[in-house]
Amino acid sequence: MFELTVQCVRMHQTAADKAAALEKLARTLVADGLVRDGYLAGLMAREAQGSTYLGQGIAIPHGTPQTRDQVRSTGIRLLHFPEGVDWGDGQRVYLAIGIAARSDEHLQVLQLLTRALGEDDLSLALQEVTTAESILELLKGGTPALMLDDRLVTLGVAADDVEELLWHAVRLLKRTACVSPGFASGLPLVQALPLGQGLWWLSSAQAVLRPGLSFVTPARPLALQGQPVTGLFCLASQGEASQALLQRLCDLLIAGRGAELGKASSSYTVLRALGGEVAADWPQARVALVNAHGLHARPAQILAELAQCFAGEIRVRLADSGCAAVSVKSMTKLLALGARRGQVLEFLAEPDIANDALPALIEVVATGLGEAVEPLPAAPEPSPEIPDRLLDQAPPPLPLPIGERVQGVAASPGIAIGPALIRTHRALEYPQRGESPQVELQRLGVALEQVVADIGALLEKTHVPSIRNIFTTHQALLRDPALREEIVGRLEQGFSAEAAWVDEIDAAARQQEALDDVLLAERAADLRDIGRRVLAALLGCEAEAEPDEPYILVMDEVAPSDVATLDRERVAGILTARGGATAHSAIIARALGIPAVVGAGEAVLGLAGGTLLLLDGEQGQLQIAPDEAGLAQARAACEQRRRHQDEADARRLEPAVTRDGHAVEIAANLGSSDEAATAVALGAEAVGLLRTELVFMGHSQAPDQMTQQAEYSRVLAALDGRPLVVRTLDVGGDKPLPYWPLPAEENPFLGVRGIRLSLQRPEILDTQLRALLAAAADYPLRIMFPMVGGVEEWHAAKSRVDRLREAIPAKNLQVGIMIEIPSAALIAPVLAQEVDFFSIGTNDLTQYTLAIDRGHPTLSAQADGLHPAVLQLIDMTVTAAHACGKWVGVCGELAADNLAVPLLVGLGVDELSVSARSIALIKARVRELAFEDCRHLARRALVLPGAQAVRALVMEHC
Ligand code: PEP
Ligand code: MG
Repeated sequence: MFELTVQCVRMHQTAADKAAALEKLARTLVADGLVRDGYLAGLMAREAQGSTYLGQGIAIPHGTPQTRDQVRSTGIRLLHFPEGVDWGDGQRVYLAIGIAARSDEHLQVLQLLTRALGEDDLSLALQEVTTAESILELLKGGTPALMLDDRLVTLGVAADDVEELLWHAVRLLKRTACVSPGFASGLPLVQALPLGQGLWWLSSAQAVLRPGLSFVTPARPLALQGQPVTGLFCLASQGEASQALLQRLCDLLIAGRGAELGKASSSYTVLRALGGEVAADWPQARVALVNAHGLHARPAQILAELAQCFAGEIRVRLADSGCAAVSVKSMTKLLALGARRGQVLEFLAEPDIANDALPALIEVVATGLGEAVEPLPAAPEPSPEIPDRLLDQAPPPLPLPIGERVQGVAASPGIAIGPALIRTHRALEYPQRGESPQVELQRLGVALEQVVADIGALLEKTHVPSIRNIFTTHQALLRDPALREEIVGRLEQGFSAEAAWVDEIDAAARQQEALDDVLLAERAADLRDIGRRVLAALLGCEAEAEPDEPYILVMDEVAPSDVATLDRERVAGILTARGGATAHSAIIARALGIPAVVGAGEAVLGLAGGTLLLLDGEQGQLQIAPDEAGLAQARAACEQRRRHQDEADARRLEPAVTRDGHAVEIAANLGSSDEAATAVALGAEAVGLLRTELVFMGHSQAPDQMTQQAEYSRVLAALDGRPLVVRTLDVGGDKPLPYWPLPAEENPFLGVRGIRLSLQRPEILDTQLRALLAAAADYPLRIMFPMVGGVEEWHAAKSRVDRLREAIPAKNLQVGIMIEIPSAALIAPVLAQEVDFFSIGTNDLTQYTLAIDRGHPTLSAQADGLHPAVLQLIDMTVTAAHACGKWVGVCGELAADNLAVPLLVGLGVDELSVSARSIALIKARVRELAFEDCRHLARRALVLPGAQAVRALVMEHC
């Protein structure tokens, strides 16, 4: 999923020509870790095939399919060229939008842009903008056009009163995603406006997602305020979108033709009169899109140009999608469809031109719209085993050669070897029409209860909090009264329970997916997941049996309950074609400890079942049918790892004490409040770092004091008296918060981030501190501030705690800082006199000491925290703290590095804070060591020339 934020925009760029602009773009994409160096060649090659100029001063450079392996992660970067760049063919580009995408994800970008491209003066505006925010505003475009088509008109509604009629009109708007649930409450019937001639009007701008107008007529005469009601308009109002329609309606009423609408017997008549979408009864033809990368700019252009040859209207929509048809002559409208390979396009042409236009359009689409294409695979046989009309059509499997290495997204660490079990979802047939609304409702009720009970049984089996949360969410969704209400409406229209359920869930999931918030959008998977389960229950399908041999499950996208119900003993690993590391399935895979690689591309679905796979969940890599030597090596590594892990696990609850009796506290790093109990069970003696920005990211808006307090209380209760070190919000740099937009900075890592930002927004910091102090009660709470660079910042932050503490006393409180900036380490002797503790964030401390961006694609491997310069800073910090009787922890990734542990222990670090899953292994590592040896080793390391020499030294001695 692409995110368009100010961080993606680079203002004030210049380039002598197109090649220079592409080079600049490639450099930006490489520097931001989205692509490798070879991507530039892809950008150039793509331009050589055809210009990526889109219109209105915008170009969308992207790589060729051959350079997709150069993409490290999906993303876009926007370069603003205020003076413009000659893009060939007389076109001038003011905004180049560089896309890094492995598959057809770039269609999303086009969808984002198409609204803006309709604006007449966009190119001019792009030349004049001066801020990244204004660019994003421009790209959002103006208000979308008013939606009015046959899905928004129902004639002859069996309503007993006007309220029921209105309810139906609102439902039409909901179903077409024009409004969200709060819309109806902004429509009191008393405000209905009589238009005369039996027509009534109601409108609200509350909870409107996009402007739309519904029109309903009653089956039998109704009255309101003593006047007849023959038709009711319900407007979801937004901006000026309804102006033209209102004008047309006024003209109609003045001409005395309003009654025609109330008496209309077809939606066609109504739409014609009001100027809505009227293509419903035109001749139609369907064809599947075969282009590998969907309907992107070039094929869309070819299609639009062909349509323009016909003197009449031609429209197209995604078949069975419920989306409105758009003009084929408009390239931007075509792009806005976001059509992917395998999806079916439905063309509708005006009767006069249909005979010529439709065959020509079908032919050009079927033959690839100017691109070399592979035919689509034959449609799979419907199978009663895996019901799923809820997922998109299965993508075409493409062969992957033996020995091929595929790069995906690392989702859950570990190595897995096993045969592939390919599970693709296939369609299941079911009747569209039901027996009667009562019978169908009863059937649906039984199925819903069955699924709720099944999930209840799963809940009983699992104690992993993240999994329990998901199942609890699923149960809540199944009991959601609003969802049921919508379905009842469909059943009353005569649909079967299956059709009503599938359509409603599908609409709800699409609405969710359209959200800008990535995390929320990914939750659509939950809806689709329960959708499949209930459909299976309605049709009486059995769950597919799993093979006995441990296998690697290969799926398009793994649904949360798919993963949670997997038997850890049999599923060696998980591989998905789609999905990201923040998907629930990835979260669960990590919680269950199943190695997983996600987003590996459609080609993995083309693997033959049983193909041996070697999956490395740490590197995000997959090897197809590895040779014997590779396998033997991987197996030996696995076996050794497993034995070591078992031994460590057995002693996870014991303290970590060196052979000569020196104890080191081993704590957990947490990113969410519900991981605390698991961390304790995995041996955590404390939480050494609660990254509260991650807690904030779990909410779609900034959590208020009570919400935060509840989260922190949960962690403290789970820790049951063990210390909790909480870091106040660390936003900025590489950690944006969607609802806290920050101005773009040239160097965000050296800009307003961490405590600097919190001190600029003290009300947010104070709310967090209040929530922490209130949650603390008698528990041992340690609060620390991130990115403190000097004494003034510490004073400013600490004084806020002191003031709040007067009103909210916390008995067992320590306040400290993170040592992440070299300046803080260098003045540690000064700071140590005032703070209660230090926690060294080696991730940032290394980046700032060595001046290497921690996420830099090519340099970050050299950003090694074992560099003697970093070790010196750690040494200074520990020495200063101990001289004042204060303790020091390390909570960066270095704490979990096997070679670093002896040195950190030897430098006198008191606490190591690592991810919960690493705790047992780090404790085991400490037990292997002797403190005295470590001290000597650390002294020697401090004077070595570089990190490699340090690593060699440790390897030689322990
Ligand atoms: C660090 O910088 O080492 C640290 C623990 O903080 P974060 O990784 O969250 O920036
Ligand atoms: Mg940090």
